[in-house]
Amino acid sequence: MKMEDLTNKVAVITGASSGIGEAAARLLVQEGVRVVLTARRRERLEALAAELGDAAIAIPTDVSDPEQVQALFSQVRERFGGLDLLFNNAGVGYHAPFADSKPEEWQRTIDANLYGVLRCTHAAIPLLKGRPGAMISTVSSVGGRYGIAGWSVYNATKFAVVGFHDALRKELGPEGIRVALIEPGAVWTEWGHNVPAEVMHERRESLDALHPEDVAQALVYSFAQPANVLVEEILVRPVRQISP
Ligand code: NDP
Repeated sequence: MKMEDLTNKVAVITGASSGIGEAAARLLVQEGVRVVLTARRRERLEALAAELGDAAIAIPTDVSDPEQVQALFSQVRERFGGLDLLFNNAGVGYHAPFADSKPEEWQRTIDANLYGVLRCTHAAIPLLKGRPGAMISTVSSVGGRYGIAGWSVYNATKFAVVGFHDALRKELGPEGIRVALIEPGAVWTEWGHNVPAEVMHERRESLDALHPEDVAQALVYSFAQPANVLVEEILVRPVRQISP
């Protein structure tokens, strides 16, 4: 398979402290990419950065905080002078029938999954300009294509991300910046933390859920295409997951 050389490319990975983001960091470093690991849990990020060595730095950031996001991208500019990949992966979901859901959980979900994507993308665009093969890849979800009872606010944020990307692709495509989406089905991660662990476990087991590496591979595949090739959207789900 023809893949571009990713050596010394620079990537910011949000939500790198666990799950898909952590797997993406490992795989990108294997491909020679220099990664900036961000999330809120400092110890996790620092342990991962220590394991990955010189190719990784940890910059703890809450993507729902505008000042922290500005500080993150200022540091990226100072240290690397630009950016090749923004992987907007940080996200949360709270399960509840909408009638029983809590406004503070809507807020946290929208802040991370939508405002976090908007803020990081806005701050990253100036750094991506003029870099051949530059890319914004955002993790939406099968839940960004189909509504799922019990996940309405999460669905709302992921549908919003899909619409945002469709417009953004048209704005940034002429400048050579690739705007892409990855839409996973069920994955074995910490996601869904307000659902009892045994319920999530049973669901993932019954579906033979994806592993975080499966999603990370979709990212590397799309990023390693030639600069003129946009893999616009990858929906990747467990074969046994026949409904959302
Ligand atoms: P995890 O819960 O393992 O990872 C979520 C990551 O997001 C963590 O690193 C967490 O780090 C980070 N995060 C959450 N809120 C914030 C915030 N406000 N600021 C910064 N970082 C934040 O789950 P996944 O790896 O599964 O999730 C990654 C993405 O995949 C999410 O967008 C999720 O919606 C999506 N997804 C997951 C699916 C699944 O079945 N697992 C299916 C479809 C989509 P920290 O707590 O340290 O801040």
